[in-house]
Amino acid sequence: MSLMTPSGAQADARADQAGAAAVEARIQSEMPGLLELYRDLHAHPELSFQEVRTASTLAERARRLGFTVTEQVGQTGVVAVLENGPGPVLMIRADMDGLPVEERTDLPFASTVTATTRDGIESHVMHACGHDTHMSAWLGAAQALAGMKDRWSGTLVMILQPAEEIGLGARAMLDDGLFTRFPKPDYVIAFHDSAELPAGTIGYPTAWALANVDSVDLTVRGAGGHGAYPHMTRDPIVLASRIVTSLQTLVSRERDPQDPAVVTVGSFVAGAKHNIIPDEARLLITVRSYSDESRQALLDGIARIARGEAIAAGMAEDRMPVMHVEPSYTPATFNTPDLTGRLSGLFASHFGADRVRVVPPVMAGEDFSQYYRADKSIQSFIFWVGGVDPAKVAQAQAGEASLPSLHSPLWAPDPEAVIGTAARALTISALDLLPRS
Ligand SMILES: [Zn+2]
Ligand SMILES: [Zn+2]
Repeated sequence: MSLMTPSGAQADARADQAGAAAVEARIQSEMPGLLELYRDLHAHPELSFQEVRTASTLAERARRLGFTVTEQVGQTGVVAVLENGPGPVLMIRADMDGLPVEERTDLPFASTVTATTRDGIESHVMHACGHDTHMSAWLGAAQALAGMKDRWSGTLVMILQPAEEIGLGARAMLDDGLFTRFPKPDYVIAFHDSAELPAGTIGYPTAWALANVDSVDLTVRGAGGHGAYPHMTRDPIVLASRIVTSLQTLVSRERDPQDPAVVTVGSFVAGAKHNIIPDEARLLITVRSYSDESRQALLDGIARIARGEAIAAGMAEDRMPVMHVEPSYTPATFNTPDLTGRLSGLFASHFGADRVRVVPPVMAGEDFSQYYRADKSIQSFIFWVGGVDPAKVAQAQAGEASLPSLHSPLWAPDPEAVIGTAARALTISALDLLPRS
């Protein structure tokens, strides 16, 4: 006797295949429009918290798809909600801002835009981090999911976040009620284009994905005077130099080698003339780590070393160094294990295991971390989508070429590979996480 009906597993496999084919057909038909959107966004980049044209362009597109759209959430942020029956809430995030960089790509749609930064500097503007690819794929997924409402059930919250590059946009949206005025997500996902991975491949870190990023200002005080009479002064340049040198031991001698950390003094400014010992020296330091504990140990260590060196230099108690840690630091981004396992498995079965790989975490920062930190019952996942010609990756690996990094004036991802792969990945993630029962 043979079974006339397929087993449950066979039926599931067929449904998966039908779903995958439907996604494929939709994204393929969307690609020309998405690439046109990409070229338009690329030619019109806007700086952090100035993403007005960008936000209104995409808000209008989401509205036409049937999303309920709210603008100006966290200054220029956009929240687009599509409720489609009972089920979990999935938030998909794209960031919108460009960078104060003068584009040198020679693309026919290269940016010639200029604008004024928050610090009042007139600058060229470029989508040098690829956030234009993020928004294009975001719209691709929105279109696909709005057209496939019969295949999923739940609530889709698609957000466009401002000001990722200055680390303030996610915080601004949360402070403006992202999780109280709108459905609070069970899952949050996002991707970033990669200037290292071959075009169309996906890389995902397990656990830590990106680092804690702190900016520290250290004012090292001395007692100025004539350069010919050093014995009448306390030289803050010599003291600050000792501090810079001693700071090198924080990572090399105090931190566990298995727990990565970075302390980089990026600016050392003091004095104005050959023969004057100045009153103070200023150090600007970037501090990177993963755990809260290691972050605190590094910050405490900088304060301790600065104070200890000042005491050794004979400074009085009221002239100890003054340390200022920027309060708006970017916390480390964490990929929660269940969601990471689930979606990386999904990607491997959809795209093929050769296109999906585990990659190590990086010491760059990303304020996507804020959504999970705001409520740790949320599951969170960020992944990289490669944008580099595979032949160039091979050349770089052989030491025959160097690749432009993210933020380079030369960074030009393969838009079809990034947007196509990411739009598919976001769409299949949503279909998987918001299943129709
Ligand atoms: Zn960036
Ligand atoms: Zn970025």
